[in-house]
Amino acid sequence: MNKTTRRILIVGGVAGGASCAARARRLCEKCEIVIFDRGPHVSFANCGLPYFVGEVIQQEEKLLVASPALFSDRFNIGVHTETEVLSIDRDNKSILVRDLNSGEERTEHYDALVLSPGARAIRPPLPGIDLPGIHVLRNIPDSQRIRAALKHAKRAVIVGGGFIGLEMAENLSGLGLNLTLIEKTAQVMPPLDPEMTVPIADRLIAEGVDLRLGVGVTAFAEMPQGGLTVTLDNGDSVETDIVILAIGVQPETSLAVAAGIELGERGGIKVDASMRTNDRAIWAVGDAVEVNDLITGVSQPIPLAGPANRQGRIAATSIIGGHPELQFRGVQATAICGVFGLTVASTGASEKSLIRCGNLAYEKVYLHPGSHVSYFPGATPIHIKLLFSSDDGRILGAQALGENGVARRIDVLSMAIQMGATVYDLEESELCYAPQFGAAKDPVNFAGMIAANHLRGDLPLAHWEDIADTQAKIIDVRSPAEYERRHLPGALNIPLESIRQRLSDIPSDQEVWLICEVGQRAYYATRLLMQNGYKVRVLSGGMKSWDFISRSAL
Ligand SMILES: Cc1cc2nc3c(=O)[nH]c(=O)nc-3n(C[C@H](O)[C@H](O)[C@H](O)COP(=O)(O)OP(=O)(O)OC[C@H]3O[C@@H](n4cnc5c(N)ncnc54)[C@H](O)[C@@H]3O)c2cc1C
Repeated sequence: MNKTTRRILIVGGVAGGASCAARARRLCEKCEIVIFDRGPHVSFANCGLPYFVGEVIQQEEKLLVASPALFSDRFNIGVHTETEVLSIDRDNKSILVRDLNSGEERTEHYDALVLSPGARAIRPPLPGIDLPGIHVLRNIPDSQRIRAALKHAKRAVIVGGGFIGLEMAENLSGLGLNLTLIEKTAQVMPPLDPEMTVPIADRLIAEGVDLRLGVGVTAFAEMPQGGLTVTLDNGDSVETDIVILAIGVQPETSLAVAAGIELGERGGIKVDASMRTNDRAIWAVGDAVEVNDLITGVSQPIPLAGPANRQGRIAATSIIGGHPELQFRGVQATAICGVFGLTVASTGASEKSLIRCGNLAYEKVYLHPGSHVSYFPGATPIHIKLLFSSDDGRILGAQALGENGVARRIDVLSMAIQMGATVYDLEESELCYAPQFGAAKDPVNFAGMIAANHLRGDLPLAHWEDIADTQAKIIDVRSPAEYERRHLPGALNIPLESIRQRLSDIPSDQEVWLICEVGQRAYYATRLLMQNGYKVRVLSGGMKSWDFISRSAL
């Protein structure tokens, strides 16, 4: 442990800042550690705010993870709330701070400075954007304002279908409001690939949300009788009592920029793996920084609580010294969201980010296994998309949604990605199993088996995006009743059970693409046909995936 007395000042006392302060104290008893936050609270649970608005969390105190008194008594850390850091004087290693209650300004010297100022909600310069009925949700005062406004509200418009927009939809719906959700892109939940978001849109609509996809807001205006009109770029307008603006955040970098601290290409503060900026005495963490994506290598801001907390810990370690091996490995953007009973989670790269990046050869599989064995009550499907390297099987990303068991599978896959695991490792993963929890072949095993079978050549995959142009014969191996309900145009129905008797109906001089409901029967048929000399591919995920793909913006 380093024994020198050092003054560590921290700007922002929530996820990254508070974590950094507490870790610094654990490593250095002699250091002086002081947090400044312009808000009235430190260490509050911003992730709980949508549920406080929705009255799922009833008491505001529950959101306060640690108070200034606790920081002082337990950790001997000074906390100055409602104190804004105005500027950084790098030459003199000092910051200028203002007490927001008294207006007094003073200079504070540092040996090490940590910036954890978070991100700010994007508020585009639209007419009426500053009207009182338009709210963002970043902190406890925001949530208090929204709760007060909701007392007189019956209708709400949510602008933005990302994590916070969706969580707010669930919570405002729970309070009985009529909801309109407006999303400029053609899908909700932008980190996911479009086809994987179709069940989310279905669920929103089923819960009575008026979902407007592919539509932007152009203006807000007050109505004479009270309430607001939201004008859309398709000419429509929506009347509402309250607007929640949840269209994303941008790194809070004003202090850093004014002090000449280097930014990255995507506008976040540039840091090394120790979370150190280009100034040797200044570290930065959390939503304000850019970090490398573990898969694509692209440097970008990732506004998530987990990385902010881990980065705070790493920055503190770097400041105090002693564990040079503690370095930030990069982010996987592992995230999860609950929407009206549906769990949506993802980790690693999406297909669209791999396409954008363009330097990784990838393959994908879709599957729809049960959350646990079908014979035990309560099993529900998990829709999974797994992306992996077509060169060596390394797992690149995964997306999943369903009613149950989603978080566990994505967490396993997240760890697998971080360890550089391949689909062959997933085949062999030994995961806990009893009937109510999973299956002896867990969905994670299945994902690995399907992908590995493909790479080994035992289960060649066809791509959905090629279906319109393919010359292949499409054979549907489901039952006639299933085929009658819906099938791909031009598909020939030969049920799996009669394939052996009907081999002569299957063309041997052209490629055959097989489809069933979720992929399993098509796999059995593939093995049978391949051993009879046919050239076969499978449409991964079957008609279930086709349903999502054909209804998405792909
Ligand atoms: C409503 C909501 C729900 C969320 N849900 C989730 C979730 O479920 N899962 C998840 O992973 N992430 C979630 N997040 C994101 C997560 O909260 C952030 O990624 C995380 O808090 C970032 O930590 P940070 O330390 O960088 O910034 P913050 O926690 O935002 O803290 C920044 C602090 O710095 C202060 N500050 C800024 N500038 C100054 C200045 N000049 N002087 C003094 N103080 C300053 C601010 O007042 C603020 O208190 C959610 C965020 C919100 C808003």
